Amino acid sequence: MLAAIASATLRGTMGSPVSVEVHVSTGLPGFTIVGLPDAAVREARDRVRAAFLSSGLSWPMRRITCNLAPSGMRKGGAGLDLPIAVGLLVATGEVDAASTQGLAFCGELGLNGSLRHVPGMIALADATAPRGLVVPLCDAREAALVRGGDVHGAANLGDLARVLRGQAPWPEPPPPSRAPSSAHEPDLADVRGQAVGRRALEVAAAGRHHLLMIGPPGSGKTMLAERLAGLLPPLTPDEALTVTRIHSAAGCSLPDGTLFHRPPFRAPHHQASVVSLVGGGSWSLRPGEVSLATSGVLFLDELGEFPVAALEALRQPLEEGVIRVSRAGGTVTFPAAFLLVAAMNPCPCGEGVYEGACTCSAVARARYRRRISAPLLDRFDLVVPLSRPDPDELLSGVPGESSTAVAVRVAAARARAAARPVPERGPDLAPDADALLGSKLRSGALSARGLHKVSQVARTVADLAGEDAVSFAQVAEALSLRAGRAAVVS
Ligand SMILES: [Zn+2]
Repeated sequence: MLAAIASATLRGTMGSPVSVEVHVSTGLPGFTIVGLPDAAVREARDRVRAAFLSSGLSWPMRRITCNLAPSGMRKGGAGLDLPIAVGLLVATGEVDAASTQGLAFCGELGLNGSLRHVPGMIALADATAPRGLVVPLCDAREAALVRGGDVHGAANLGDLARVLRGQAPWPEPPPPSRAPSSAHEPDLADVRGQAVGRRALEVAAAGRHHLLMIGPPGSGKTMLAERLAGLLPPLTPDEALTVTRIHSAAGCSLPDGTLFHRPPFRAPHHQASVVSLVGGGSWSLRPGEVSLATSGVLFLDELGEFPVAALEALRQPLEEGVIRVSRAGGTVTFPAAFLLVAAMNPCPCGEGVYEGACTCSAVARARYRRRISAPLLDRFDLVVPLSRPDPDELLSGVPGESSTAVAVRVAAARARAAARPVPERGPDLAPDADALLGSKLRSGALSARGLHKVSQVARTVADLAGEDAVSFAQVAEALSLRAGRAAVVS
């Protein structure tokens, strides 16, 4: 007898519909899965059989063939366990085919028959519409974020079989998601002094300028970077869905089980693998840190310690806002549009040129600088030298301005920039500001690309001040916000 059950498989951050066909016939007992299954799907045979036996369901001693259609597309992950099991129940006459009409099934089976979490439930729920969807009870709330009321949860295969036979009602859906609590984000009020670093954060947030902070240990680079996401505006509904979909596909838990509403902050360690940074994996192709930081902040502390391969892999997302990952399982394009903030010591010993206490040899310093390639360095509009804070400021006990106050200025500057028509020939500069840039260009202190960057940053500084024309002082500030390049360009 033949059964066809609707399901879906995850490809990157998107789901693709899959029809699971199960055929049971006389012949030598066996269980074959065809239709480009990955290793996890092939192992479904063992999980499904054990789950049947643990749930008190009889295992057919017949020839079982399972086809995953369309057969040309690779299928990954353990989420097809449940539709295979349900197809088997229908094909053996344990449950009526009519009871599965209009329903799709996604879930992993434990050997004891329990239904387990599968990553990417948001994408799978999208791909199985407009059918009703049956998922593990623990995933019902996540699936309902994009589907609303037609999601059913089941705790285990035995319970599900009783529901499909009409012997029990669907289990109570989990309570609706709580309103998102105001998650705690670190506040700029905790940062004493650090006028240059605070200003750099504000300009970075207002103009979406990538920021590199260069300073010795103890100069507050990490503390500042952790406060950048808190200055960004809340996510738009589209951004919220994209960010949540990426986190769901990566198997991350969602904040309070609801959509993300604040920009994410990701801070991968420099010893993290390149795959965890850019995404990938052998078959199922999970999104990496650059994608998890989409619409938020990617913080790379100790930038000079990251492997060169990892830093070079950042160039595509920084240029295109996406990352393409190719593995045996195919090529997948992940979103990867983030605000990059990085921090590094000025030299291996950390003391650098600013403190005058550096003990590094000229060779060691040159080698350290070469780790950051010129094309990567060019991606940073802001390269800011930081020094250790003044002890008097630390001891004064006067709190800094709060993130909320700065975020108000950032939002106003962004609104101002969004309302302005795109200028044909760069920003509107006051004559003396134009002359200042011209003299930097002629003296060789600025390249043509650098000139463009400085005028963009100066435009953001003017937007923060609420001014239409860019003044001499604003260009001078933009120049000072890239003064750190002197420390890393030999
Ligand atoms: Zn040094």
